Amino acid sequence: MEDVDCTITPETTKAVTCEEDGEIVYTASCEFEGKTYTNSDTYKEAVKATGHKYGKPSYSWSKDDKGNMICAATFTCEKCKKVEIVPVKENATTDNGTIIAEKVEPTCTEDGTYTYKAVVKFQGESYTETKVETVKKTGHKYDNNGICTVCGHKRPTITLTSKKEVYTGKSISIDAPKVVGDVKDLKYSYYSDNACKNEISEPTDPGVYYVKVTADAGVTSNIATLTIVPQTAKITTVANATSYMTVSWNKVNKASGYYVYRSTNGKKFTKIATVKSANAAKYSDKKATKNGQKYVYKVVTYYNGNQTVSSAYSAAKTGYRLSTMKVSSLTNKKGKKAYIKWKKNSKSTGYQIKYVTGKSKAKTVKASSKAKTKTISKLKKGKTYKVRIRSYKKVSNVTYYSAWSKQKSVKIKK
Ligand SMILES: [Zn+2]
Ligand SMILES: [Zn+2]
Repeated sequence: MEDVDCTITPETTKAVTCEEDGEIVYTASCEFEGKTYTNSDTYKEAVKATGHKYGKPSYSWSKDDKGNMICAATFTCEKCKKVEIVPVKENATTDNGTIIAEKVEPTCTEDGTYTYKAVVKFQGESYTETKVETVKKTGHKYDNNGICTVCGHKRPTITLTSKKEVYTGKSISIDAPKVVGDVKDLKYSYYSDNACKNEISEPTDPGVYYVKVTADAGVTSNIATLTIVPQTAKITTVANATSYMTVSWNKVNKASGYYVYRSTNGKKFTKIATVKSANAAKYSDKKATKNGQKYVYKVVTYYNGNQTVSSAYSAAKTGYRLSTMKVSSLTNKKGKKAYIKWKKNSKSTGYQIKYVTGKSKAKTVKASSKAKTKTISKLKKGKTYKVRIRSYKKVSNVTYYSAWSKQKSVKIKK
């Protein structure tokens, strides 16, 4: 009899997992006198399932269709990656746990805070997780009288006043609005259209602009207009042309043209012409022809901006129509004199007669309103004189003149 040590070889015939037992088979073998002997009667050993090893879960939050918060805790086995999902729900306590909510509701002006605490029970352990949700402030809900139906707050008001300004070449802004109540972050918006669609920067050119102001909490002003009108022209002269009156003015920047107004009494004015030229500075009133008639003029500048806008009326300027005279005869009288005849103008205050020879300076003499002739003396023999006449009318110390007549010539022979 002889004892021989055997070699024992373990073999895992079934691996142990988290959930299933494993098995190990032990086989003994030995060598004796050059031969290998293996026992046929192996030893089997069962290995107990290890069970899962879950760590801390991860959480995901959602809401059901009634707005109740749901928190799903996901546990994952570190070894086999098996996943266990344990849901808990607000307003529902189960064996899985629950969600405890603490709600600070929002007000008109303050955000609210909902704090959710999920308590999850799993394999005898309790896990908690907290989520904080901010709920936006509701804003006031104003009724037709501007009173908040929730808190009674009175809606602030922003009131803009429309304004008219004269073009300056610089941008023009609306005046600050009247504000009642507590608002901040006032923002001014300018538009070229009354639907307030085309926003522009502060306007410069003549036109009609629409302005509104917005502030925090959605408070909006009325829409006011900012009207920029062209500058007013100044009438420089109202004068008699040969057969009608002319009006002249100093033109202004940013004009598309001018309206001309006329009155015969200085009170009631009628628009008689639209002069469609930015560069025009004179108008010929071919209907102002009545001898002795008072004609008073005003002009208005207009500009075709986003709308056509007009300046204020210019100051009025007066003229009197005086028909153009005619030298009816011009003769040389003895003693180096010239003798002039004309047809008198009963609407005039008097006459001026102008005479000149060669390049010397012209001289002027007057005649009374009733005169029909004039003798000019101290002329130079052998010279030819050109003579012309005009009437004038004096009203309140202002003298109005007719146009000059055509000139006639006379040679001084005696
Ligand atoms: Zn596992
Ligand atoms: Zn309120």
